[in-house]
Amino acid sequence: MKILIILCGCLIMSLHAEEYEQISVDVRANNISGNSYYISGYSGSATEFEGFISNAGFVITSDGVLVFDALGSPPLGNALLGEIRKLTDKPIRIVIVSHYHADHIYGLQAFKDEGAEIWAPKGAWDYIDSELSENLLESRRESLYPWVNEETHIVRPNRIFDKDYKFSLGEHEFSINYFGKVHSDGDMSLLNITDGVIYSGDIIFEGRIPFVGDADLVEWAITIDKVRKMPVKYFVPGHGKASNKPNETMDLTYRYLNYLLDKFTVAVEEMQEFDDAYDSIDWSEFEKNNAFEIANRKNAFAAYLYLEKILD
Ligand SMILES: [Zn+2]
Repeated sequence: MKILIILCGCLIMSLHAEEYEQISVDVRANNISGNSYYISGYSGSATEFEGFISNAGFVITSDGVLVFDALGSPPLGNALLGEIRKLTDKPIRIVIVSHYHADHIYGLQAFKDEGAEIWAPKGAWDYIDSELSENLLESRRESLYPWVNEETHIVRPNRIFDKDYKFSLGEHEFSINYFGKVHSDGDMSLLNITDGVIYSGDIIFEGRIPFVGDADLVEWAITIDKVRKMPVKYFVPGHGKASNKPNETMDLTYRYLNYLLDKFTVAVEEMQEFDDAYDSIDWSEFEKNNAFEIANRKNAFAAYLYLEKILD
């Protein structure tokens, strides 16, 4: 009997290993309030730390588990599922995706296999059907190999949101806040009203310079103003540490975006060349933050192009 049990254990382990590559990063669930948990990725660029650079969360209710974001590779999604399974064997009902960017969605496969419904903001299809998402997946199959590989695919949502939505699961009350095209083609956050926790997605980066990409900077700044008025006690950002001081958690992204907007509005209005404008701006307020070296100049150029367009 004992041998049989050992054999079964090995078989399960080897099947598991075949399905998902081993990871060496520390994916660990932290309780933030009540039945709400979060996983905090490392602070780094997209292909560092085996792709474990974003946050995720989950809430265990009496009627099953709700997950927020799925991390940046199938093995990371599976590790998140493993953390949930240490706490409960209740079914995974819903995965809410804050936005369709690679570092939050490549882990969805692990949850689709569990039969979870995937909820996403309007704009997800723009990403899914884009050449950009195909090209990025192709390049991540190299830069994040073996964790992102030929088996990795983009999981499609079952349900799309284009406005705010309140719902309950078990004894928990939730509200989805749909923001529109802000940081990405479509962003939304989840408020667990019962536990007083917001999972913001990439509206907020804490402890590192945000990734601007093709964001709508004015809408982004307006969205943070809205989120600052929400009645939350605990804040889980899209990247960086969670806290019980929401305004402090939001501070860096808020100041940084408004700084980009202010400085490049002046630069564009004065018809300065980008390089001249960039060199004349005092970046000392932000240069000590993580990812400044890799992100700031790209962000600044994106802000310059954005303001050229909207001030035209
Ligand atoms: Zn992200």
